[in-house]
Parts: sequence; C-alpha cells; structure tokens
Amino acid sequence: MAEVLDVAVVGGGPTGLWLACELALAGVRVQVFERRAEPVRESRALTLHPRSLEVLALRGLEGLFLAQGRPLPTGHFAMLDTRLDFSVLDTRFPYTLFLPQAVTEALLEARARELGVDVLRGHTVEALRQDGEGVELEGTSVGGPFQVRARFVVGADGARSAVRRLAGIAFPGTDVTRTAMLGDVTLGEPPSQPAIGIANTRGGVMVVPMAPGVHRIVINDPLREPVSVREPVTLEELRESATRIAGTDFGMKAPRWLSRFGNETRLADRYREGRVLLAGDAAHIHFPAGGQGLNVGLQDAMNLGWKLAAVVKDGAPEALLDSYMRERRPVGDALLRNTQAQTALMGATPETLALRAMMSDLLREPALNRRFADTIGALDVDYAALELPPPQVDTPLLPAWSGRRLSDLDLAQDGGADVKLYAALHPGRWLLLGFGSSPLPHWEPGWPPRVTHLRTRGPVGRAEFQDVGGMLVRPDGHVGWAWAA
Ligand SMILES: Cc1cc2nc3c(=O)[nH]c(=O)nc-3n(C[C@H](O)[C@H](O)[C@H](O)COP(=O)(O)OP(=O)(O)OC[C@H]3O[C@@H](n4cnc5c(N)ncnc54)[C@H](O)[C@@H]3O)c2cc1C
Repeated sequence: MAEVLDVAVVGGGPTGLWLACELALAGVRVQVFERRAEPVRESRALTLHPRSLEVLALRGLEGLFLAQGRPLPTGHFAMLDTRLDFSVLDTRFPYTLFLPQAVTEALLEARARELGVDVLRGHTVEALRQDGEGVELEGTSVGGPFQVRARFVVGADGARSAVRRLAGIAFPGTDVTRTAMLGDVTLGEPPSQPAIGIANTRGGVMVVPMAPGVHRIVINDPLREPVSVREPVTLEELRESATRIAGTDFGMKAPRWLSRFGNETRLADRYREGRVLLAGDAAHIHFPAGGQGLNVGLQDAMNLGWKLAAVVKDGAPEALLDSYMRERRPVGDALLRNTQAQTALMGATPETLALRAMMSDLLREPALNRRFADTIGALDVDYAALELPPPQVDTPLLPAWSGRRLSDLDLAQDGGADVKLYAALHPGRWLLLGFGSSPLPHWEPGWPPRVTHLRTRGPVGRAEFQDVGGMLVRPDGHVGWAWAA
C-alpha cells in the first residue's frame, strides 16, 4: 500500500463521478472505486433539473447533456394536474431535461476519465479504518483483494452505503410502507401530451418520454402497494393496473426494464465522521417523487468538491468541510419532507383526491407555482455566510448577499462583448468580481486560495445589483461575500 491517494471516492454513480470531476479539476489525486464491472443499462432517474444544468454549465459542460436530452418547460409535484411552470424561473435552463440516468452517467464518466480520474470498476469496498492522518479501505476486485490508503474517503455508494455503515454513521428514518411500479416500454398508443398524469379512486398513472420510441409508465396502484419491493414486476401486472386505473394500457409492449420501488425515507445522522464524508443517496433516500434524488446528489458533490480540494491541495482548514454538512444536510432534510408530502398526495382515497384538487387549484396561483417550481428545480437553495474572512474592502460589506445562488449573469465589459458569469467559473476557482472601476480587493482567507480576477461594468439589466460594488463568488456559483459600490 505504497501510494497515499488524496481522496478515494466509493461509488461511481452520478454523485461519485461528479465529485471526482470536481476534485480532478482542482488537481486532486482521486480514484473512484465502483462495485459494478460494467455501467448499468437501466435508468432509474430520467430528469436533470434547472440547478443541475446550472452546475454543469458552471464547468462549461451543459452542451453535452442538452445535445442528448429532451427539454420540457415544466416539472411536477405529486403528479398534480397543474404542472409546475419552469419557463418563468430565473435561470438559463428553465425546463426539465429528460435524459436517462445511464446517459448522464456515461457522460460524467467520460469527463472524469478525460480529467485523469481512475475509475476502477469491479472494485467493492468492504472494510474501512481511519486514523488521524487518513483512511484505509479494503475490498475485493475482479483481480483479487485490494487495499488503498487515502487522506479522505467519500461514500457516494448509494442507499445501502457500506461506507456509511463502516464509519458508524446512523441512518434514521422510516421503513418502506408502500411500493409503486415502473415499466420502460414501447407504447402502441402513446398519449397525445409528452407527459401525462392520471389520478382517480383506482390509483395513479404517469407516462413520460424516455428515448425515441420508449416511454416510462409509473403506476401507484393501491391494490399492489403492499407488494414487497423485492417482488419482480411483470408486464401483465403493469398492463392490468394501467388498464384498471387509466382505462387503457397504452398498447404497452417490449419492456426494457420493469421495477418496483418504495418509500423508505432516511437521512444520515451526519455527513462527516472524521476523514469520511457522505454524499448523494448514501446520505439521503426517499420515495422518488418529483425526480430529485440524482439532482440533489450532483448538487451535494458540487458543494463538497471545491471544499475538499481546498483542504487537500491548498491547506484550507478542515473546518471548511463542516460547512458541507451545515449547508447540505438541511437540503437533504427538505428533500425528504417534500417527497413525503408528495407521497401523501399520491393516494387514491376520496379525501386525498379532494386534497389533490385543492392543491392543483392553489398551484394555478403564479406565485405559489413559482415557489414549488423553484423547490423542485432546486433554485431556492441559498446558504448562510461561510465562516471565512471577507476580502479587504473600503466600502461596507453586504452580508445579506452571502450564500445566495447566482444565475448566469451577463456581465458588461468596457469596450467589449458581455461575458457570462459562469464562463468565468469554468476553471472551478473562486472569482473576485468587480463592478465598476474600483480596484479589486485583496482576499486572504488564511491559505493561498485559487482565485480568478475579473473587472466588469456589472450585470446587465439587473436592478438588484445597482448598489453592489463587487463580489467574491464561490467556485460553486454562490456568493461568498459582496460589498457596496
Ligand atoms: C424508480 C426510480 C426513479 C428515479 N427517478 C429519478 C429522477 O427522475 N430524477 C432524479 O433526480 N432521481 C431519480 N431517482 C433517484 C436517483 O436514481 C438516485 O438518487 C441517484 O442514482 C443517486 O446517485 P448516487 O450516485 O448518489 O447513488 P447511486 O446511483 O446508487 O450510485 C452508487 C454507486 O455505488 C456503487 N457501490 C455501492 N456499494 C459499493 C461498494 N461497497 N463499493 C464500491 N461501489 C459501491 C454502486 O454500484 C453504484 O454504482 C430515481 C430513483 C428510482 C428508484
């Protein structure tokens, strides 16, 4: 066990792969240990939401994903009749991008390998020991047992996370009480709308596009809810439930994947135990309502990546890692609560249907619709100020700005074309951004940070920035500090 890695990421799903990309971008030596010898062909997730597309755009990668997906200007909450209008959101990506998880993972893995990450497939981690300086992992690979030592380990190893268990992190919550079914099928008689939801006293059916010629049918059938999550779904079962609930089986045939899933809901007690951290499904599981789990996993990784890189590469204090849990665990908690609320709304009793009708009515109010759309799109996630020294400025600091997410602002340049804010963040560094002619301030956080300097005339067409003199932007696109003009 000669070499000591900077970071070992356990799990090569979307969360682990994006984290590895972020770490490698900052020059961190990282390896991904993935149990599966081959990529998974079936796709649990189908959606990339606005904030995830922004995360990808913060590194200049959105085009790869947009080229292969299908945008739909709406999202949904509990399959309610009134869909969430994403088109009004303050983002360059006001839509749901339908993209199968297998494609998302393939693109992320290709990017990770491009950046020099070793993605070691067929490697299952089985043991973990940590001391003051690092963590030892042991496991089994296709070629026999392996051992590795790393300064930090991140468990991105999904719902049944071995890392979480081996680090002694509790995963409290509730067991599965009901299950639902899905089928990725060809439809002889597809619905006329691209995405439809049907709910009545017999149950609920959702049909969404997946790939050319393939739809996903999701069924909440009260008669089948008690069936164990381990019992395989048959095409006959899916057909029978769809016909009973929707009055048609949509001519379903040629199943690519049939699966059952449940509402087990749990949140890790803590996201960090010494040199071990958790992200994605390893930290939070819930009923997959509203298409959020993969998205929140990517966003966890975006929050953790630059912090871990600053600690292992630049000598930032380890306390910076605690801000990861402070910022992301409340997001996980809110995710669990919104999926539980959606699960409650997915019942078929007359009372639940009345509540659904009332909620659907309420969502016709633009302000409420916008609020739910911001939540499902994950654009409402702002953080508190980081406990880091501010830049040395001559004008007052504007603490109310700290932690706010910035959309991809157009920044006016003297005598040149506007620049996009996110383009200045592509290298994954901090950004000292000045608006106007004042010189950019010094920033000494206590370690030598990696910072890009950019002076502009300021955001175009954004009145809310008129009193802002400049900003220190975090590598994940949230405001670190802002100061007055
Ligand atoms: C039916 C269904 C539909 C869903 N739809 C959506 C959706 O539309 N949108 C959305 O955002 N989310 C959706 N989700 C949730 C989404 O699939 C997950 O949240 C997402 O896969 C989490 O990513 P992850 O990388 O954290 O974990 P995972 O994708 O579970 O990846 C973990 C990886 O770790 C590996 N691993 C596990 N143990 C070990 C070990 N000991 N050693 C090495 N490797 C290990 C696994 O093989 C796996 O590749 C859905 C989920 C389900 C069940």
